[in-house]
Amino acid sequence: MKQRSVEIIGAGLAGLVAANRFAQLGWKTRIHERNAELRMFGAGIWIWESGLKTLETIGCFDQAMKSARVIKEWQIRDGRGRLLMTRPTAPDDRLLLPPRADLYQALIDGAIQKGVSIETSSLATMVAPDGSVTFENGAHLAADLVVVADGAYSRNREAILGTQWIDFGNEAGIRMLIDAMPEDNLDTLVEYWNGKWRMLYNPCTDGKNYIFLSAPVDDLRARRIPIDTELWIEKFPFAESLIRRFQVDSRWDRLVNVKCRTWREGHVAIVGDAAHAMPPNLGQAANTAFINVMALASMATEGADLPQTLERWERHQRPISDHVQWFSYWYGYVLGKWPSALELLRSDAVSALARTSWFEEALNRGARHVPMGFEGGRAPHLAPLSVAHQNPNHRQSGDSPWPTPPSNI
Ligand SMILES: Cc1cc2nc3c(=O)[nH]c(=O)nc-3n(C[C@H](O)[C@H](O)[C@H](O)COP(=O)(O)OP(=O)(O)OC[C@H]3O[C@@H](n4cnc5c(N)ncnc54)[C@H](O)[C@@H]3O)c2cc1C
Repeated sequence: MKQRSVEIIGAGLAGLVAANRFAQLGWKTRIHERNAELRMFGAGIWIWESGLKTLETIGCFDQAMKSARVIKEWQIRDGRGRLLMTRPTAPDDRLLLPPRADLYQALIDGAIQKGVSIETSSLATMVAPDGSVTFENGAHLAADLVVVADGAYSRNREAILGTQWIDFGNEAGIRMLIDAMPEDNLDTLVEYWNGKWRMLYNPCTDGKNYIFLSAPVDDLRARRIPIDTELWIEKFPFAESLIRRFQVDSRWDRLVNVKCRTWREGHVAIVGDAAHAMPPNLGQAANTAFINVMALASMATEGADLPQTLERWERHQRPISDHVQWFSYWYGYVLGKWPSALELLRSDAVSALARTSWFEEALNRGARHVPMGFEGGRAPHLAPLSVAHQNPNHRQSGDSPWPTPPSNI
């Protein structure tokens, strides 16, 4: 059978996972990035079981996770430090937190090793359902399949009139790496809510930890740069030692939701944030992109008629993606829109809900999804919990997680 070809638009995480997988399955694969250099913005990233299985399948796990923290628990606490939710992990239900740069470099190196052609300064201006792509420099290319992975503000999504709606929401977020201190917890994510403000502490590498802050877009003081540390200490006094370490070389982003009317037309498929951007409430957007890309590559490789195959692919993958996006949306709604006067009620409601099996399953459905093409079982050298266990500073879960909540709670 003739080797089939795929042109991928956008070398973010979704595009690069697609490039790795299509090349691995024997496709002639080219990826286009509008920027002159491949670079990744952001600090750390939550990679759940679904994403880890994806990385294992495409052979990028070891490099991507070389300095990742193995997370044992995700906690949500309210502004008074009260525990609202705990989400423990397990060896077959993992959450690892690598620096984004490591993940990105592993995907680039994996793509190069698999023979993917990477074109930088290559801005796609138009894709067409027949599988053709036009570039800013006037060049035209044709392929069996075009994968649009050009991010939440995708211009090529509109070439097939894909957008249903974009919700810019009410929240902005900022990410930063801060210097690690010996007292920092190394295996527990702690997310603090105070009204509409949120601070998320993430153990990341030996030298750095990762902080995410979110605030209402119209709170100009909260989203000042340099960060107004006094304001954030006022909101989260028990996290003062972290807040004093905030660094300023970062930016505030809108936390957008993108819903598509369709993810495909003819020989064009839309993936990643271009298809289903969602606010980073569950840490599952990229993981969801990975499982969709895995399914796309498997199904397209099997299916002779690509337009029909893409239709089946969308039908197959939409339910899990829509679910993750829906859950993330409501999580953001409860955080960002809840009336301040009823905050105690929110704490009670969330803590009661978080103990139900319905919530547990719904929260984790995407994270536990087994990507298509994953053969099952890890390669023996990929010891899943090896990374942090080799770290002499690693603390066991159950030791007091940092920062300690106020003792009166
Ligand atoms: C604060 C924050 C925290 C997050 N944390 C997590 C997390 O912990 N876990 C998780 O799973 N997800 C997380 N996410 C979501 C995750 O970052 C995204 O889902 C993921 O990075 C999207 O990747 P992408 O490749 O679809 O898009 P992008 O990363 O936006 O990549 C698109 C690429 O396409 C290029 N491009 C754009 N237009 C063109 C064009 N016309 N021609 C050629 N190239 C083009 C761009 O330059 C870019 O390189 C987070 C998001 C945010 C904002």
